[in-house]
Amino acid sequence: MSEKTYKSLLEKITASCRLIAVSKTQSVDKIKDLYNWGQRDFGENKVQELLGKKDQLPSDIRWHMIGNLQRNKVKYLTDFAHLIHSVDSQKLMKEINKEATKSQRKMSVLLQVKIAKEDSKEGMETAELDAILQDFVDDKYPMIEIKGLMGMATFTDDVGLVEKEFAALRSMRDDRITQYPFLQELSMGMSGDFTMAIEQGSTMVRIGSLIFGARDQ
Ligand SMILES: *Cc1c(COP(=O)(O)O)cnc(C)c1O
Repeated sequence: MSEKTYKSLLEKITASCRLIAVSKTQSVDKIKDLYNWGQRDFGENKVQELLGKKDQLPSDIRWHMIGNLQRNKVKYLTDFAHLIHSVDSQKLMKEINKEATKSQRKMSVLLQVKIAKEDSKEGMETAELDAILQDFVDDKYPMIEIKGLMGMATFTDDVGLVEKEFAALRSMRDDRITQYPFLQELSMGMSGDFTMAIEQGSTMVRIGSLIFGARDQ
């Protein structure tokens, strides 16, 4: 991607929405190009890869953890990560709170809920979401800040289905916003469907291949 196409992508993303450049599998040099054009939010899905890149890049990058996160890796993130998008269990919440306490730094997270029809997609059911939200307001996670919800739509050409799934995530948030006013962010939309996600209220689009080209893995 050239600077010009990067700028035209930014124009398609409305002011209420932030672009997270998904840099997984991409080289440090490619990330530096985007950084030089002004991009500061980058997303990675593997902790080891993220740690390897971070030290070679400017410290004002905001790193987003977007992939499935194992509890034993949480300790590597709490010192510096800007936002963990993929929190999908109470166990993971407990671990993040524990490690954030050690790091003496509040950790911001999104709660990943299941919106896709297919079984393979991660994310929790609404019962677990509501249990976490209740525990959070009961102050069981004093070192965590919940910022909103994240969801991944079914991988399909059926745009109607994807639209429904994004709308469902938005309703999940809207239904809870009075009780839990901190649920401001909606992380949804990737290369193929970000325009629709923005129409459905996305505040963070996670875009990889459209920026960096197709990945090998
Ligand atoms: C890889 C990935 C993306 C970006 O996908 P593209 O289709 O390349 O834009 C977004 N979100 C998550 C969780 C990912 O793992």
